[in-house]
Amino acid sequence: MKVSIAKCDSYEKEEVYKAVKKSIDLIGGIEKFVKKGQKVLIKPNLLRASKSDKRITTDPAVLDAVIRLVKPITNKICVGDSPAIQSTSFTMNVAGLKEICDKHKVHIVEFCSCKDYKFKSGKKLKGFQLEKEVMESDVIINLPKFKTHVFMTYTGAVKNLYGCITGVTKAALHFTFPKREDFAMMLLDLYEFTKPKVKLNIIDAVIGMEGNGPSNGIPRKLGFISASEDALVLDKIMCDIAKIRSNDVPILKLNRNKLNKTKMHVLGDKINIEKIIYPKTKSFFDSAPLFFSRFIRNNIRSKPKVNVQRCIACRDCVKICPAKTIKIINRKAFIYIRKCIRCYCCHEVCPHNAIILKKPMLAKAYSVFKK
Ligand code: SF4
Ligand code: SF4
Repeated sequence: MKVSIAKCDSYEKEEVYKAVKKSIDLIGGIEKFVKKGQKVLIKPNLLRASKSDKRITTDPAVLDAVIRLVKPITNKICVGDSPAIQSTSFTMNVAGLKEICDKHKVHIVEFCSCKDYKFKSGKKLKGFQLEKEVMESDVIINLPKFKTHVFMTYTGAVKNLYGCITGVTKAALHFTFPKREDFAMMLLDLYEFTKPKVKLNIIDAVIGMEGNGPSNGIPRKLGFISASEDALVLDKIMCDIAKIRSNDVPILKLNRNKLNKTKMHVLGDKINIEKIIYPKTKSFFDSAPLFFSRFIRNNIRSKPKVNVQRCIACRDCVKICPAKTIKIINRKAFIYIRKCIRCYCCHEVCPHNAIILKKPMLAKAYSVFKK
């Protein structure tokens, strides 16, 4: 399986266009993935409504480049994703992506009309409720952003497909699969299910995110665009480049044997970057046996806590919390920690960075001991 790398130093439109084109050309050219008259859905990362310089969402220059490359082949292009809270068009507007769609007269799909699809061979889920445009498109071009992730350690191409599931259902699945491995297995089911449609994955790694990503981490310049037909292989190469251990990323760990047997060819530019900063939530005990899971959750995993100075009671965290364990009291969010499943959705969606992650005493003591 081929993975291409094209250096890209900035989000200047022409530079990004050249890098995106190079990354696709190296693996066969756009005509290999999109045929005349096909219906194409481009799926960026639209986690939440935030300006592009926060580096939470796929950069507008990357979307612009992809539309420019696809347009000469087909006019049937649409762009969509399912943000955590706000509507697709609102989120795209704030992130600067709507402007690109308007310029190219490309339709935005709101991702609000879901349909049930059966998936008999699913290991965790035998079916999905997906936005119907996802399965009605001939081709999906997946446009993730390279980021760390407080729950999954890393988020890239496979995790970006989670946005094919519409809003509320996404939060509910966190409650159904509170354990990292189970949640990762469900993501892998979705990856397998959508694979025949997802013909091309292009990751925005010009400026990614490290630390407590995917929304409250630190922007980190990585300086490249990378593409592959296979989302999982692309993620494996991304983690290798960023020196993230596959064992720390559940989607890779669960596919260790399969990935070991896959022949991977990395083409294009050589990239050498310093190790990425892991999320604070990553713990040595993540790989402990499952019967420890409740103990680990309560005593090892970082706890979400509200910084009342920053909280403006917007209720986004209340709406997203799958355990329904956040209330607004005296105009501030309050987390009843006993019912918290440590999914960190509240941390992801808070637009004011008012949810902080606190390491329990035992986890702190272990870190000191390890040093
Ligand atoms: S913690 Fe954040 S998301 Fe929750 S109510 Fe306060 S500002 Fe809004
Ligand atoms: S409080 Fe936050 S981390 Fe806990 S279950 Fe709710 S959304 Fe998840």
